Amino acid sequence: MHKETVFDLIGIGFGPSNLSLAVRLAEEARTSKLAHCFVERQPEFGWHRGMLLDDCRMQISFLKDLVTQRDPKSRFTFINYLFERGRLNEFVNLKSFYPTRLEFHDYLRWVADAFDQRVHYGQTVTSIEPVFASKGSSEIDALRVFSSDDEGNERQRVARSLSVGIGGTAQVPEAFAALGPHNVIHSSAYLTSIDRVVGTGDRAPKKRVAVIGAGQSAAEVFVDLGRRFPHVDASLVIRSSALKPADDTPFVNEIFSPAYTDVVYAQSKDGRRSLIERFRDTNYAVVDRPLIEQIYEMLYLQNVADNARHRLLASTAIEAAVRAANGQIELTMRDGLNGHGRAERFDALVLATGYRRDTHLALLDGLAPHLGDALNEGDVARDYRLATPDHFKPRIYLQGCCEDSHGLSDTLLSVLALRSDEIAASLVEHASIDHPTNTNQTRNKDGVHMAFAI
Ligand SMILES: Cc1cc2nc3c(=O)[nH]c(=O)nc-3n(C[C@H](O)[C@H](O)[C@H](O)COP(=O)(O)OP(=O)(O)OC[C@H]3O[C@@H](n4cnc5c(N)ncnc54)[C@H](O)[C@@H]3O)c2cc1C
Repeated sequence: MHKETVFDLIGIGFGPSNLSLAVRLAEEARTSKLAHCFVERQPEFGWHRGMLLDDCRMQISFLKDLVTQRDPKSRFTFINYLFERGRLNEFVNLKSFYPTRLEFHDYLRWVADAFDQRVHYGQTVTSIEPVFASKGSSEIDALRVFSSDDEGNERQRVARSLSVGIGGTAQVPEAFAALGPHNVIHSSAYLTSIDRVVGTGDRAPKKRVAVIGAGQSAAEVFVDLGRRFPHVDASLVIRSSALKPADDTPFVNEIFSPAYTDVVYAQSKDGRRSLIERFRDTNYAVVDRPLIEQIYEMLYLQNVADNARHRLLASTAIEAAVRAANGQIELTMRDGLNGHGRAERFDALVLATGYRRDTHLALLDGLAPHLGDALNEGDVARDYRLATPDHFKPRIYLQGCCEDSHGLSDTLLSVLALRSDEIAASLVEHASIDHPTNTNQTRNKDGVHMAFAI
């Protein structure tokens, strides 16, 4: 017999989703007793650092921080962050609901710092395996979570529940996949790679860069290239006929309110899909109106100065991308209006082509044989719990990959405060803390120590 700690919950990833859950668990007596920890790939807390451009603003009100909608009296509100940083009065004078992303990142880090003891940074969760109730039993009552650090050192931990909050993974369209990473960067790595790819300084040679995509990140990168890299000629290549504004008008914005999750969830599969399609232009392939106006003015002023360094190539489909002998990338493009094709060479590409939300499938693959169809069919309960068969006791909560069932706010910050509340309530209902421990178990402050037959 071998005794090991069994956590009530392990959170995989420590971005805003699991950070919000950490706050929620800490703030109520019953949940603070749950033995829990988080495993995060990054060496320290970071929120989309690769796109932490210094002049970009939040696309959501600061009142939708990690806690306010659940408990405005929490010490982890954005307002208390401002207060403790000594900037509350000055922030009020800005008359804005939309802090810069840099400031919001600082807020998130300020919250994360309070949970340092709970987080194992620098460890990537690589796989998860079932733990059977006893030798020969088909009942699964815990999960073994494997992680490894940069040096390849492996750790394993056992838990009765998981909260998977691993965010999205860079989406690279097929046309660009074969080019390899050299001078092709995804927007998620923009700030960490752009200097290397285009060079910096007064003597940096001229470069031609194509930014691919019609969303907020593409627009932000396009403006940043114009602002900070005078030696770069940038082209923003979009399939649509114009940059379209994100609809953030108040009636439409109600789809991001926590109550709307119930509305979406109550629909049939087709109904949910249709709702999501109807409101797609709140989040996908759209740009904040002020940024569109900024881009228009930038192009106009370059035109006035007869120095057109930037171009918007609208209605342009990229049909092929190949690497030329000199290392440049040749894009074959077709004009959607007149059907004409042409080829152009660029020194670098920035792919602002969005994120895949299916990475949890690979992470949970080791459990797939025991999960029936739930995983592939995205069968998730209202409390974000993967619907598992009766013999599978551990609870797996999915955050950020339930857009199909819970609506467009699932990948955003909009419902975090209440989602973490719903998950915490579900955890309490089922965690071992509320059940008598069996004879093989003892509890201390770190978790339940349980004897396993292995
Ligand atoms: C540039 C940018 C700006 C955005 N701005 C806004 C905004 O203004 N408003 C808004 O509502 N939404 C915004 N979003 C949407 C964004 O998804 C949410 O803000 C938020 O990041 C979601 O939090 P999350 O914790 O679910 O995912 P993430 O923030 O992506 O965090 C996931 C974490 O999991 C870790 N991880 C991944 N895999 C593993 C693994 N195998 N093992 C261990 N750790 C792992 C990652 O390192 C990461 O820290 C923005 C997104 C981007 C890319």
